[in-house]
Amino acid sequence: MSIVVVGSMAFDTVKTPYGEVENALGGAATYFALAASYFGKVRVVAVVGDDFADEHLELLRRHGVETDGIEHAAGPSFRWGGEYSWNLNERTTLFTELNVFENFAPKLPPEFRQSPFVFLANIDPELQMSVLEQVDSPELVACDTMNFWIEGKPDQLRDLLRDIDVLVINDDEARELAGSYNLVEVAATIREMGPTALIVKRGEHGVLAFFGDEMFHAPGYPLEAVADPTGAGDSFAGGFFGYLAKHSEHGPAAMRRAVVAGSVLASFCVERFSVEGIVDLDQGQIARRYRDFQLLTDFGAL
Ligand code: AMP
Repeated sequence: MSIVVVGSMAFDTVKTPYGEVENALGGAATYFALAASYFGKVRVVAVVGDDFADEHLELLRRHGVETDGIEHAAGPSFRWGGEYSWNLNERTTLFTELNVFENFAPKLPPEFRQSPFVFLANIDPELQMSVLEQVDSPELVACDTMNFWIEGKPDQLRDLLRDIDVLVINDDEARELAGSYNLVEVAATIREMGPTALIVKRGEHGVLAFFGDEMFHAPGYPLEAVADPTGAGDSFAGGFFGYLAKHSEHGPAAMRRAVVAGSVLASFCVERFSVEGIVDLDQGQIARRYRDFQLLTDFGAL
């Protein structure tokens, strides 16, 4: 089943202890779309500037992503800069330039309005809401957000959360949103705000998910080398939501598998800079990494 995603498409300048890139392809919607493309049809709603090379859109199309919802505006594209600490666990945002996103009013192409799965990737909650309002009775709506919006647009974010089924968010941001530290308590508070399920991304410590009466944990895959964690969260979201859309179910068993599918895509993402780790994967690579995840925590019966 098709997924509509709104989010940033960006040029990222990133420094990690293992190297740096300047104006490399990035953005939440870009990572999400590439990761989800291994599971089904993805339709992107975003805006890019006149500096956005056609080769980047070609890359998305090669992955079967529909790009008709990407508006081309005059001016520079969204730009973000970040630097990681020696252990890659802490990230400092050096700059966020919204540029063409500042005056963006998303308008969905008619064929996008029937999409049953909607993912509102990290972007201004007002834009997320405006996209959601244009989709006809979606089956499942998920969203991501970050401290920039939790602090900058708290009321708009609260309005949005009332209409969300699944919130996919970092642990620090979940704690900030809920105003407490204990993640079980955080989950209860956030689920009262609207989302029926909460997926907490915990960097190298993996993912803790709350749905129905259940909690589920997936580890981060221990990799020999991590080059750049940028986009791990969005790649996770793409694999997670892509899996749910492909199987068109979102019960507890599907949620568990989707969390691992997301973790697989995130693990490929961090092995390379920019989107390099998640382009041109084959289904065999994905299946093998999924199996590696299974073996990592399969301890058999007592
Ligand atoms: P992640 O590492 O998964 O949290 O996502 C990093 C991506 O988010 C980068 O490619 C950035 O371009 C994008 N990004 C950073 N800040 C923002 C923001 N305030 N709004 C939207 N996208 C952002």
